[in-house]
Amino acid sequence: MSRRKPRPRTPAPAPALTADTPCPCGLDAAYGACCGRFHAGTGATAPTAELLMRSRYSAFVAGDAAYLLRTWAPETRPGTLELDPGMRWTGLEIEATTDGTAFHQRGTVTFTARYVHAGEPGSLREHSRFTRHDGAWVYVDGDFPDA
Ligand SMILES: [Zn+2]
Repeated sequence: MSRRKPRPRTPAPAPALTADTPCPCGLDAAYGACCGRFHAGTGATAPTAELLMRSRYSAFVAGDAAYLLRTWAPETRPGTLELDPGMRWTGLEIEATTDGTAFHQRGTVTFTARYVHAGEPGSLREHSRFTRHDGAWVYVDGDFPDA
């Protein structure tokens, strides 16, 4: 751990994510020790489908499209991914999970993600499917059950 020099701040639309800020995924942990260690790409991968889901949500918050693409199953992965800069994600709630542990090859996660878009609050409810690719959990696809 080294002390960093304070840097001049430029106004940003959302608070910047640092290793010490609370992780946006909702777990009681700092970003650097939670989803940030998966985003860093240093070899750590999410051990469960739920943690992958949380880290993908945090990647939306962080604007990390590269992480979203590399945790997407090759069969369903889009060629490119443009994140909407007008979208501000404000919370994640995991509602249910099936399988998706260290002992499974597949799993599902049902969640609600809240956001503000162009000043309007909204929410997205998704039942997502996950599988393993080269041993690591990846997102396959999802459907959108009624709330
Ligand atoms: Zn997290």
